[in-house]
Amino acid sequence: MKVIIVGAGIGGTSAGIALARLGHEVVIYDQMRENKPVGAALSLWSNGVKVLNWLGLADEVAALGGDMADMVYRDGASGEILCDFSLAPVTAQSGQKPYPVARADLQAALMDRFGRERIHLNTKMVAIADDGARVTVTFADGSDDTADLLIGADGARSLTRAYVQPEGAPEVVREYCGYTNFNGLIPVDPAIGRPTAWTTYVADGKRAAVMPVAGDRFYFWFDVPQPAGLPYDRAEGKAPLLAAFAGWAPGVQALLEAIDPVTSLNRVDIWDITPFETWTKGRVAILGDAAHNTAPDIGQGACSALEDAFALGIAFATNTLSVEDTLKRYERVRVERAGDLVLRARRRGHETHAFDADATAAWYASLRGTDGAGIIRGIVGNIAGTPVDLGGRLPGD
Ligand SMILES: Cc1cc2nc3c(=O)[nH]c(=O)nc-3n(C[C@H](O)[C@H](O)[C@H](O)COP(=O)(O)OP(=O)(O)OC[C@H]3O[C@@H](n4cnc5c(N)ncnc54)[C@H](O)[C@@H]3O)c2cc1C
Repeated sequence: MKVIIVGAGIGGTSAGIALARLGHEVVIYDQMRENKPVGAALSLWSNGVKVLNWLGLADEVAALGGDMADMVYRDGASGEILCDFSLAPVTAQSGQKPYPVARADLQAALMDRFGRERIHLNTKMVAIADDGARVTVTFADGSDDTADLLIGADGARSLTRAYVQPEGAPEVVREYCGYTNFNGLIPVDPAIGRPTAWTTYVADGKRAAVMPVAGDRFYFWFDVPQPAGLPYDRAEGKAPLLAAFAGWAPGVQALLEAIDPVTSLNRVDIWDITPFETWTKGRVAILGDAAHNTAPDIGQGACSALEDAFALGIAFATNTLSVEDTLKRYERVRVERAGDLVLRARRRGHETHAFDADATAAWYASLRGTDGAGIIRGIVGNIAGTPVDLGGRLPGD
C-alpha cells in the first residue's frame, strides 16, 4: 500500500515509522522549509515514551530525556517550598520513566528513523480528492501525488480536518484557553531548581517552571493569563516576562536572567478544540493536533499523537477488509480517549490560571505540605487510559 502523510511533526513522523515498519511505502510532505519545531521542549509521559520504545527508539529517547526524578512546587512570591516529592511512583505504576526532551532533538530522531530522503519539505498541500479507489493530494506548486491512504498530520490548523468533517456538520473551531506560554532552553542552574526536579513557581494564576533535558539544560516555561493576540515584537525579547514576573522569588529572577531571547525564547497563545467525533472520510484520516488540539496543561498533546500512531499501526497490522474499514476502527479506538485528554487539560488549565480565583486558591492550598499522592494519582490517571498500556497496572498498585 502507498501512504501519503502530510505533516512531518511528531504525529506524522511517528505514524510514518509505524506504517513503514509494516512494509508500506510511505512518503511525508510538509510545508515547512526546514526542520524547525515551534517550541523548545516537551514532557513525554510514560504513554508517549512507550510508543517511542515500540517504534524502536528506546535508546534514543532515553539518551535525550532529562532525569526528572522529583517534583517541586514553590510559592512564586517568596520562593518557599510548598511540596517536594519523588516521581518514582509514576514510573513504578505506569511501567516507564517519563522524559522531558528538547523538541528539535526528538524531531531529528524521528526524522532519521523514518528516513529523511522520504520527507519532502517546502511542499504545501492545498487540495484532497478521493475517487474511492485512490486519494490524490495537490500541492501549492501545482504538483500532486496519489496513494491508497492519506494521513493528515497537519497540525492545529489542519486542512485535512475540514475535509473529513461530514457535510453540514458544525465547523470545528479553535478556542482560546486564556493564557500565553513563553518557553525555551537555558543551562541547568541550581539557583532556579534542583537539576533532577521539575520545579514550578506559582502565584496570581501564573506559573514559571523548569524541567531537565539532556545536555545539562533546563526546559523553562512561563504561563501568563492575558487576552489573545496581544501585539508582541521579537525585538521586545523578555520584556513582557520581566513585567509579568517582577518581584517574584530569587529563583525566578535567576531564570529570567538566564534567558537569551535571541537564541531560545518562544511565545505562543494557547488554544484548544472541543473534542469532535469524525476523524476519517473514505481513504483519509487525521492524526495528532489535527484531530485533538489540546492545551499543554497535562503535557499530553504529543503523547496523544504518539498514541494515534500506535493505534493506526495496530489497526493496519490487524485489519484486512479495506482501508476505509481500518480507518474507521482506528477512529473508534481513538476519539474518546484523545477527547478525554483534551478535556482534562482544559479543566486543569482552568484550575491553575485563576480563571476561577477560588479554585486556584484551593489548588495552591492543596500544594502546601502535600506528599504528592494526589498529584501522582492525577498524572497516572492521564496515562491510565492509554491504548499502549495493554498490561494495565501491576497487582497491588
Ligand atoms: C507550549 C506548548 C507546550 C507543549 N508541551 C507538551 C508536552 O509537554 N507534552 C506533550 O505531549 N505535548 C505538548 N505539547 C503539544 C505538542 O506540541 C503537540 O501536540 C504536538 O507537537 C503535535 O504534533 P503534530 O505532529 O500533530 O502537529 P505539528 O507538530 O503541528 O505538525 C504539523 C505539521 O504539519 C505541517 N502542515 C500543516 N499544514 C500543512 C499543509 N497544508 N501542507 C503541508 N504541511 C502542512 C506543518 O508545517 C507542521 O510541520 C505542547 C504544546 C505547546 C503549544
